[in-house]
Amino acid sequence: MPRIHVDRDKCEGLGMCEAMANDYFELDDDEEMHVVRSEVPEADRAHVHAATQACPVLALTLVG
Ligand code: SF4
Repeated sequence: MPRIHVDRDKCEGLGMCEAMANDYFELDDDEEMHVVRSEVPEADRAHVHAATQACPVLALTLVG
């Protein structure tokens, strides 16, 4: 099953990922992004892949 990988050194809390897929990504009050669930069922692959591609600083990768 594909997994979401976050490069914490790159993430700037910009929130595009949350805007695209708030069932997987969530920003807290400090604008720190949390992955709600990292394992992605095949049915959600395209949806989550699009969200990872939306990250302006390329902090997200879908692995597998
Ligand atoms: S879009 Fe990229 S920089 Fe913004 S919160 Fe998501 S991972 Fe972090």
